[in-house]
Amino acid sequence: MKIAFFNTKTYDQKYFDSINKEHGHELHYIPSHLNSETAHLIQDEEVVCAFINDSLNAEVLTTLKNKGVKLIALRSAGFNHVDLVAAKSLDLPVVRVPTYSPYAVAEHAVGLLLCLNRKIHRAFNRVREGDFSLHNLMGFDLHGKTIGVVGTGKIGQTFINIMLGFGCKIIAYDICVDEECQEKGVEYVSLDSLFAQANIISLHCPLNEATHHLINQDSLNLMQDGVTIINTSRGKLIDTKAVIQALKRGKVGLLGLDVYEEEEAIFFEDFSSSVIQDDQLSRLLTFPNVIVTSHQAFFTEEAMQKIAGVTLSNITEFANSGLIQNQVSL
Ligand code: NAD
Repeated sequence: MKIAFFNTKTYDQKYFDSINKEHGHELHYIPSHLNSETAHLIQDEEVVCAFINDSLNAEVLTTLKNKGVKLIALRSAGFNHVDLVAAKSLDLPVVRVPTYSPYAVAEHAVGLLLCLNRKIHRAFNRVREGDFSLHNLMGFDLHGKTIGVVGTGKIGQTFINIMLGFGCKIIAYDICVDEECQEKGVEYVSLDSLFAQANIISLHCPLNEATHHLINQDSLNLMQDGVTIINTSRGKLIDTKAVIQALKRGKVGLLGLDVYEEEEAIFFEDFSSSVIQDDQLSRLLTFPNVIVTSHQAFFTEEAMQKIAGVTLSNITEFANSGLIQNQVSL
């Protein structure tokens, strides 16, 4: 099939070109984000492949449908950037990569936690300046700490397994209780109780109406002073304005973000020679106890191979039989 890939970088093309040798599709790469201004860039492609910071709203989907697109193939697990109601009414199936590497994301969450706690980001710069002192570099043992995990799906469970190895106590909140987690000693509690008890909170739930701004002024007030928050899930789970205030008064002691509320226009691009226009992001970057990474938790060799493989298999399956097992349903 002819496929238009939006929002692609050379690292995407490398994996898709290599794995496409087994599939034989015609790939057309478009570097721009997909949105209402760029949807018209497709020619005669029957499939559009999009990434997390593309916008697949009703207007974009209608344009694509009118241009003859038959399938939307997301090269991500998350699908909160797609108007599924509009896709359904346009009879435009949407497929995704439901799982590629929970290890990639969970390990990045642990990386953020270790780096923040042991101040490795500060030590790295300090010794390069010839400063071998230890002042302000003290961390705490993770062993024995209470970790609150919100969302115990694939990534949350992988994160839990790692943290159990550190000797942490795990409490969790999810709309579905997982028995395997309970057997490992994970205690499911209410969200408010998790906020009140946890020394460290890690978010692994999807973004939806129920989880939008899950971390807000009220929930922050319930938390322990100096709490650590790690978000590798979706930026809009956290009310950035509220978390900045909480950082300023010491309520939040450490904050590790791989995702940011307004990341769409910024992440994955190089602004090193420009002035960043987003004042909240700029403020976050001034805190010594905050680490922001640019939505890179998924970015491992293994995950990229799996993403390309499953995306192209989804399309091949659709081309051969019209069947699509990884279809996203409402
Ligand atoms: P998953 O579907 O396996 O697990 C999600 C879990 O969240 C499920 O157990 C579900 O019951 C739970 N959940 C749903 N609604 C909830 C709510 N209101 N409160 C608490 N829990 C709720 O998904 P996953 O593969 O573990 O991925 C988790 C999230 O990680 C994704 O939604 C995505 O946003 C994010 N993600 C980020 C990256 C990255 O690179 N940073 C990569 C992949 C996924």
